Amino acid sequence: VFIALLGIAAASGLTMLILILVKATDVFLPADTKFGIVFDAGSSHTSLFVYQWPANKEKDTGVVSQALTCQIEGPGIASYTSDPTQAGESLKGCLEEALALIPQTQHQETPTFLGATAGMRLLSQKNSSQARDILAAVSQTLSNSPVDFWGAKILAGQDEGAFGWITINYVLGMLLKYSSGQWILPEERTLVGALDLGGASTQISFAPQGPILDQSTQATFRLYGANYSIYTHSYLCFGRDQVLTRLLAKLAQVRLNSSLVRHPCYHSGYLATLPLAPLHESPCVHTTDSLNLTQNLTVEGIGNPGECVAALRSLFNFSSCEDQEDCAFNGVYQPPVHGQFYAFSNFYYTFDFLNLTSRQPLHIVNDTVWKFCQKPWKLVEASYPGQERWLRDYCASGMYILVLLLEGYKFREENWPSIQFQKQAGGVDIGWTLGYMLNLTGMIPAEALTQWRAQSY
Ligand code: AMP
Repeated sequence: VFIALLGIAAASGLTMLILILVKATDVFLPADTKFGIVFDAGSSHTSLFVYQWPANKEKDTGVVSQALTCQIEGPGIASYTSDPTQAGESLKGCLEEALALIPQTQHQETPTFLGATAGMRLLSQKNSSQARDILAAVSQTLSNSPVDFWGAKILAGQDEGAFGWITINYVLGMLLKYSSGQWILPEERTLVGALDLGGASTQISFAPQGPILDQSTQATFRLYGANYSIYTHSYLCFGRDQVLTRLLAKLAQVRLNSSLVRHPCYHSGYLATLPLAPLHESPCVHTTDSLNLTQNLTVEGIGNPGECVAALRSLFNFSSCEDQEDCAFNGVYQPPVHGQFYAFSNFYYTFDFLNLTSRQPLHIVNDTVWKFCQKPWKLVEASYPGQERWLRDYCASGMYILVLLLEGYKFREENWPSIQFQKQAGGVDIGWTLGYMLNLTGMIPAEALTQWRAQSY
C-alpha cells in the first residue's frame, strides 16, 4: 500500500509539484518498533509468524503482538526428500510478504528462526541425511534473504511443549503483570497448561500441584525473576495425521486377505480407494510383510462410534501403566493434571468444527461426537459445503481427542471444563513459536538459573 504525499515547493522562482510515494508501513509504524520472524515447519505444512514489539519495552510482558501469519503453500518440509531445494523455495512467498510489512531499513536486524517439529523428527529418525539436506536447503534460502537469520533446527518434543507453555502464559500475563504503573510478578499466578495436537506429535505441559518424580519430563527455567518447574511430554506418532494413518494400517492388517477395509470412524456410505504406500512410508506404522505394497485399499465407512473408540484405544498401550500411579500411557510418567488448560492446534480445529469450543460439559461433548459419527456421509457432505478437505476425518479426530484426554491424560468429568479449546489468546496464535522467539532473543530475562536455556542452546 502506498500513500501519495503532495507537496508544493518553490525553487528558483519555479513552483514545483512534488509527488512522493511512501510505503504505508514506513509512515505509520513508530520508528522504534522491532520485528521477529518465526517459521513453524510442521509435519503437514509450514506457517510463518511475524511478531512486533516496541523497541524500548522489550522486557515487558505482553507487549509482543502478532503482526502477520502466512501459510506456506504445499506440504511440510519433511516431504521434500527428493528435491530439498524446493523446501527452501517454498518459503519465499511468505517471506516476501513478511518483508513487505517490515520497513526495509530494519530487515537486516530482524531475527529470523525456523523450527521444525515432529514431521522432521520422524524423518531424521528414518533417514538423517535427508533431514540434514532439507535443513541445509531452508537455511540457504533464509541466509540469502536480507534478514538476520539465526538458524534452522529440529525442536525436541520437550522444547515444543515447554515453548507452547511459555507462549500461553506470557500472553495471558501470568509471567508478569502491569499494575499501578509498574511490572510486577502476579501474586496469584494461575499458570495454565498447554495441550497441543499437531499432525505427527502431541504435547502436554503443565505445572503440577505436587513434585515431578521423573526428571526426563521436567523443564525448569527462570523467567522474570521467578523459577518454574513444569511437566512436559511429547508423544511422537500421536499427532492427528499419524494416528489416522496408524488406525488405517491397523484396520487393514485385521483384514489381511481382503483389500476392503471397513472403517468404523468413517461415516456410513463413505467409499474410497486409497493407496497403501503412505502406510508403509510412515515410520509410525509397523506393518507386517503380508500387506502388499502395491495394493490399493478400498475403504468403506460404517459409522460405528463404539467400534471407532475401540480401534483408537488399540493404538495406545494402556497396560504399561496398569496398576501404576502417575502414569498416562505407553509407560510415560505423568502427575495428575492440574489447573486450567488451553487446547489448541488440532484440538481447536476439530472442536471448532463440531461447535464444542464453549466449555460444554463432557456428556454433551461425548454425545455430539457420537451423533456426528453416526451421520450418513451423504448428509455430512451436504451439510458442510466448501469444507471437504478434512470432513472425512472429524469423527475420527473427535473420538481420538476424547480417548487421548480422558483415558490418556486422565481428565475427568469434573475437571473437563478446565480445558479451553482456543486457537488464539491476546491476539496471538497459541503455539510454540512466540515462546521460542522470546527465549532465543533473550526477551525473557532468565537472570540466575539459566540451566534450561543453557542446556538446550
Ligand atoms: P502440524 O502441521 O504438525 O502443525 O499439524 C497441523 C494439523 O492440523 C494437521 O493434522 C492438519 O491436517 C490439521 N489442520 C490444519 N488446519 C485444519 C482445519 N482447519 N481443520 C482440521 N484440521 C486442520
